Amino acid sequence: MASAEIAPFDSSALGASLGAFERAADLLSLDPGMRSFLAKPRRSLEVTVAIRDDAGQLRTFDGYRVQHSLTRGPGKGGLRFTPEASLEETTSLAMAMTWKCALVDLPYGGAKGAVRCDPERHSESELERITRRYAALIMPIIGPGRDVLAPDMNTGEREMAWVMDTYATQTGLLGDAAVTGRPIVLGGSAQRRSATGHGVAEAVRLAARAFALPKPLRVIVAGYGNVGSKTAELLLADPEVLVVGISDITGARYCESGISLPKVAEVLDGGGAIADVEQGERLLPHELLELDCDVLVPAAVSGVVNVANAGSLSTRVVVEAANGPTTEGADAILADAGIQVVPDILANAGGVIGSYVEERGGELALESGRAAGIISSRIESAFHATLARAEAMSCSLRDAALTIAIERVADAHRVRGLFP
Ligand code: NAD
Repeated sequence: MASAEIAPFDSSALGASLGAFERAADLLSLDPGMRSFLAKPRRSLEVTVAIRDDAGQLRTFDGYRVQHSLTRGPGKGGLRFTPEASLEETTSLAMAMTWKCALVDLPYGGAKGAVRCDPERHSESELERITRRYAALIMPIIGPGRDVLAPDMNTGEREMAWVMDTYATQTGLLGDAAVTGRPIVLGGSAQRRSATGHGVAEAVRLAARAFALPKPLRVIVAGYGNVGSKTAELLLADPEVLVVGISDITGARYCESGISLPKVAEVLDGGGAIADVEQGERLLPHELLELDCDVLVPAAVSGVVNVANAGSLSTRVVVEAANGPTTEGADAILADAGIQVVPDILANAGGVIGSYVEERGGELALESGRAAGIISSRIESAFHATLARAEAMSCSLRDAALTIAIERVADAHRVRGLFP
């Protein structure tokens, strides 16, 4: 499918990110100069990714790499392939990466990349050409110490290997990768695969303690992909946790007494989907969000908790595994209902912490099994700092987390000064 045939741009995600930024900037009484500096990306690159498809036809796709901040360190952020990708969405996600890295105190800025395409409609060889051409086009602004890519929606180790190889071929630099989330055989880490889920599970445990949630803790994981499935599996290591609901794009299952995840894994490993799972009540994915639980973990796409359903949620806490799963309007409804929201920049920061471990001498930490501990301790520190800030400022956890992050980036900028 040519990029022109794909859905129109949606600028709402950027509007919501800027709205949240402005609210946090107000809480910090941030001066107007710093406000406009931090509201805009340092650099946005738009590229036209041209390939020949398997039939030999010339096809083009829009691609983006946005570096929102380079103040605390090099750019860092995922690469996604989705039909909805836009410059606005990529900018919003790059900004979220800046706040996420600052909140968990990593020496990174924030960046994001995307190609507007539907991977379902392409063969592996077309996807390889899209990935390599995109990597070649953004080459001038990426690389170790500049901007390092990672997997995101519809990209994984395979795409990271292609980016790494394209970068090495074009630059002659073989030692350092321009990506994290590499295959293990190319220096990646097994822990990176479960890092985001590990951090989400940690955030669920911390929230259960902080908000005195009941035992057994009943959790719904809406979106059983990489992040959602790992989160659910890691949560079940605690016998006092029940995963009562799961979903993917094909369907949802809800079972009061808990879903057996090994049985779900059997279905998925056999090429099935959640709709093929023979356990509990059958539902549509959006229906699961409103069922009774103590913690709801949206782990799929953005905007699933919105003004249409926020008033019907039956949970005590939402832990945002996905990026931007709760809309601005829904946030206000949840706050009125006394439902706490652990924001995405805190809850899903385990992935970028895992990337940091992989990039910075990760092998040693991984060999001694310390990667998981590093993720847990960073998430825990950020969680407690966020709770304390929310109490001190009488604001939501989202606003509290943002104020901490914005303050850190603004302080770093002041200390670095401005060239020339
Ligand atoms: P994934 O593609 O592996 O999984 C997404 C899952 O969501 C799939 O199972 C899909 O079927 C399901 N899904 C899609 N639409 C749905 C809907 N409407 N209702 C229910 N399920 C639906 O992606 P992932 O890597 O697990 O990422 C999930 C989210 O987490 C994204 O928002 C991503 O940006 C965010 N995230 C991922 C990482 C990471 O390390 N992969 C890190 C930080 C944040």
